[in-house]
Amino acid sequence: MNPSQDSIYLDHAATTAVDPRVLETMLPYLSSVCGNPSSIHGTGQAARRAMENARASVAEILGAHPDEVVFTSCGTESDNLALRGALYAAPSGRNQIITSQIEHHAILNTGEQLQQMGYEVTYLPVDRYGMVDPDDVAAAITERTALISIMYANNEVGTVQPLPEIGRIARDHGIPLHTDAVQAPGGLDLNVDRLQVDMLSISGHKFYAPKGVGALYIRRGTPIAASQTGGAQERHMRAGTENVPGIIALAKALELVESARPSESIRQRTLSQRLQEGLLAAIPHAFLAGHPTQRLPNNTNIVFEGIVGEAVVSRLDLAGIASSSGSACAAGEEGESPVMRAMGLDEQLGQGSVRLTVGRENTSGDIEQVIGVLPGIIQSLRELSPVPLGESSI
Ligand code: PLP
Repeated sequence: MNPSQDSIYLDHAATTAVDPRVLETMLPYLSSVCGNPSSIHGTGQAARRAMENARASVAEILGAHPDEVVFTSCGTESDNLALRGALYAAPSGRNQIITSQIEHHAILNTGEQLQQMGYEVTYLPVDRYGMVDPDDVAAAITERTALISIMYANNEVGTVQPLPEIGRIARDHGIPLHTDAVQAPGGLDLNVDRLQVDMLSISGHKFYAPKGVGALYIRRGTPIAASQTGGAQERHMRAGTENVPGIIALAKALELVESARPSESIRQRTLSQRLQEGLLAAIPHAFLAGHPTQRLPNNTNIVFEGIVGEAVVSRLDLAGIASSSGSACAAGEEGESPVMRAMGLDEQLGQGSVRLTVGRENTSGDIEQVIGVLPGIIQSLRELSPVPLGESSI
């Protein structure tokens, strides 16, 4: 079941279709159980009970306590709350955040604004596979560090960071570690103790819940202040009437992807590997971007020398295949992706990347169709605007 039946949807890192079981679970909370969880009447309390059950279910999957889960409106808000909240709560003199150059714009642009406000933000480099070196994290820590924020898995190239190692370093220094785990549900372990993280962001629309709901896990005892003021919702951490149907949906969707994860992550990795191998065998002057093994099971990102990724995305779209050049959120922004630049690709190569992210509904037939169509597209684009092609490596 593709979002549109006659097309092949390979852009699950951008967003996903709502799972029918999720939709069914959330529907009553849009109509019959419409109460405000803060109301003391029966309908309000029914909504509250359902919301608290959802919180407990999310907490269980994270290996957390229910009171450590704060519901938000999206991954971006969760990231903002983690960064701003940690700085607002930090003792005076602790005004530095350490993050990486390959974060999502929800972190990068928040960091930029915080810098303009006078905070210190350190952006760690990555290697050519998009990997942060834990030694660099240790070296960047100062007596001013209030928070370390390193993403779990990159949204463009899929590289998975060594969080447990970074977490141990953070813990040794008594500094909280936040991770943007928006791309992780369904593909990676979300247990906050195994990951050694103190805060973790997720977003419902990346795992078959609707858009407009997210969550931030905050370990008990982590210094954090609310950045949005108003009512007392979410134990004063996130003011505003809760999106009850969205919260119910997020919890149900997380349960579903987590229970399917053992088999589904293997199936998706097999599809991604076949896609990668098929494309690289058929197309010269192309290479895989991101880490060869430490990567999301559903992510294939190929850089095609001598072409612009957006042209490929348009041609694939005409062929009924939805893909992405860079991340959906970076698309439309000027210039090279910060991720490609940080991995050491020059501007021209950095623009030649195409991301194909598989999901639940994709089959091996979908993959074979892409392998059949894409080589011709690349060849015709290269013939249209020939440029000298060099070595196929970063
Ligand atoms: N962080 C990462 C890694 C993402 O991939 C995204 C969305 O693409 C976000 C944050 C932002 O999430 P949302 O769209 O829910 O604001």
